[in-house]
Amino acid sequence: MTGCAELINTGRNAAGEQLRVLADLQRLADRYAFAGSKGQLADLAAVRGYRARLDAIAVGCEAGRQAAAISQLNALLAQTGATPQIAEHHGRGPHIHVSSAGSPLADRMAAHFAMGLVWLVVAGQAGRLRSCASAGCSDVFIDLSRNRSRRYCDSKTCGNRTHVAAYRARKASGNDDTAARPSPAAGRAGPAGRAGPAG
Ligand SMILES: [Zn+2]
Repeated sequence: MTGCAELINTGRNAAGEQLRVLADLQRLADRYAFAGSKGQLADLAAVRGYRARLDAIAVGCEAGRQAAAISQLNALLAQTGATPQIAEHHGRGPHIHVSSAGSPLADRMAAHFAMGLVWLVVAGQAGRLRSCASAGCSDVFIDLSRNRSRRYCDSKTCGNRTHVAAYRARKASGNDDTAARPSPAAGRAGPAGRAGPAG
């Protein structure tokens, strides 16, 4: 599912299209060790088309529209000509390929990444698909937290950035009650109280 999210997110980047040229697509394919024929120019547009559909399916899952997501997934898998089979290569033990090596790269990538969504739906976990709540990011991610409360694709970047921005906004509006002014209790009895005018 990581790969599926990564593919979808190449179309959700605030900086624009991340699959600009064939080399971008081939890099993504190589990172996930797609073993068959190399990508052709036609695969670039085809993958972008599949990506838009996977994105729509992810949005549907997030919104709880499971029946629609299922029929869209089935249609997409059928269009890719998926043919599940057991493969062994590059020293890896037997594992499942959902396409034959001779299929176009776009079809193989779409089928493989769609299966990430398929397993999620079949496991009853489609609701774990989430879009990042950060203002500058809409990346899709899987919320694996126990109480399904994760809001950001990455707590170190997006979560922290949002936290800092909210803190600055509170401070700028004078509504910051976490740091800028002492609490009433501190005013009465704490060091700040003693330092102030004597009562
Ligand atoms: Zn994010």
